[in-house]
Amino acid sequence: MTDSNPVTWLDSEAIENKLSGTIGEDKTHIREVLAKGLEMKGLDYSDVATLMTIQDPELEQELYKAAKEIKDRIYGPRVVLFAPMYISNLCKNECLYCAFRVSNKALKRRFLTMEEIAEETRILVNQGHKRVLMVAGEAYPPKEGFDYVIKAIETIYATKGNKPGADIRRINVNLAPETVENFKRLKDAEIGTYQLFQETYDRKVYAQMHTHGKKADYDWRVSALDRAMEAGIDDLGMGVLFGLSDWRFEVLSLMQHIAHLEDKYGVGCHTISMPRLEPAHGSDVASNPPYIVSDSDLKKIIAILRLAVPYTGMIISTRETPQIRRETIGLGISQISAGSRTNPGGYAAEENEGTFAESQFQLGDHRPLNEVVAELAEMGLIPSFCTACYRLGRTGDQFMEWAKTGEIHHRCGPNALSTFKEYLIDYTSEETQEAGNRAIEKEMSQMEDKDRRVSENLIRHVKAGKRDCYC
Ligand code: SAM
Ligand code: SF4
Repeated sequence: MTDSNPVTWLDSEAIENKLSGTIGEDKTHIREVLAKGLEMKGLDYSDVATLMTIQDPELEQELYKAAKEIKDRIYGPRVVLFAPMYISNLCKNECLYCAFRVSNKALKRRFLTMEEIAEETRILVNQGHKRVLMVAGEAYPPKEGFDYVIKAIETIYATKGNKPGADIRRINVNLAPETVENFKRLKDAEIGTYQLFQETYDRKVYAQMHTHGKKADYDWRVSALDRAMEAGIDDLGMGVLFGLSDWRFEVLSLMQHIAHLEDKYGVGCHTISMPRLEPAHGSDVASNPPYIVSDSDLKKIIAILRLAVPYTGMIISTRETPQIRRETIGLGISQISAGSRTNPGGYAAEENEGTFAESQFQLGDHRPLNEVVAELAEMGLIPSFCTACYRLGRTGDQFMEWAKTGEIHHRCGPNALSTFKEYLIDYTSEETQEAGNRAIEKEMSQMEDKDRRVSENLIRHVKAGKRDCYC
């Protein structure tokens, strides 16, 4: 699909019927679905609707326990880290919840020059980051248009930090929907994941929330991932903005969207993000979400999705507080951002003690990367800076096949340890090194012999001064 014709795979009526027909807890059936989930073959849309009925605290704990078990089996203690980089807050759209909306005249508009993008990159790589999520509003500098985005990607990849191996090795992007032609340019520029949130699958709410600009076209947005696939980008990130509509409707719609991608292209999505509405400059909607998703709802959503799509990465950002981030890692979150700023030039502004007048929304976790890493290590988790898969072409259906057969485990485990070791040596205090080394040793003691040998070998190279060691 290359235009904005109405999509045929989204059946809102069926979802409404499913929701109104699935009321009350059928404990026996819920337990059957949990057992099915533990087989790690995924759940269908009806199973997901069943799990959504859970109210009983005992069943809720059973759900969490099942999600944790799957998380531990597939991802072990690894948590992938990244930082967003906002390159511009120019935008022609009117999304009522976002500070970048075109009518927000109080916002200081700014797009970064290539030198400023390089400076932001230097700051991030000198903190130890290896993955960036590049973000922009939906308007590019008039003279350059989409070339600006491509140049920004090239600039980030080309920028080096102070130490050997201090560079960004994977750029994911969260950018407005494009034509197939421009998606091909993103692919050629070697992006990792193309991430796009539908915001809401509810057409009526979508129309109320997006009142002006290209984004007001629901079908253009909901068909964007098809165009990305057609352009050869098979590493896709999905999400909804929780708080705009009923989360149950959104999650079932998301399941239909994933099923559509699987049917048509043989692969669903690589990641799902879990953004909840946060206060944004001058936005009533953002401060008073029409459908509040409570902490407990969020945990339920994450646990249900962990069972439903066990091999899909799940992301939680610094929108959330440290406490929620800690809790949800145990329920299935596999990637988190850290040390984030949501204003263009935010990293340099902080170093220069600038203001945050250009930010997109308010953050819940303000801690710098090294604090987040220290905490993860103290919790016995392994912060991973691995970027191997995409660089070795393990994306899309190839990645999913490896994930489902368990083969990927033999790569992610050792790679997480070697990239974490690299981080510990190059960027941390002695105290964090001690906690990190303890976490590494514990993990190695629990690994299969073959994986331990591979890990030891990679770590030996890192200790000897080699960087970017992966398998
Ligand atoms: N402009 C592009 C778009 O809208 O798709 C890409 C970048 S936009 C900055 C990235 C995401 O930020 C949006 O998809 C939306 O879900 C999220 N966002 C906007 N306002 C938000 C808010 N107040 N709280 C939380 N997330 C928000
Ligand atoms: Fe612009 Fe995206 Fe914000 Fe909407 S969400 S106003 S498109 S930056």
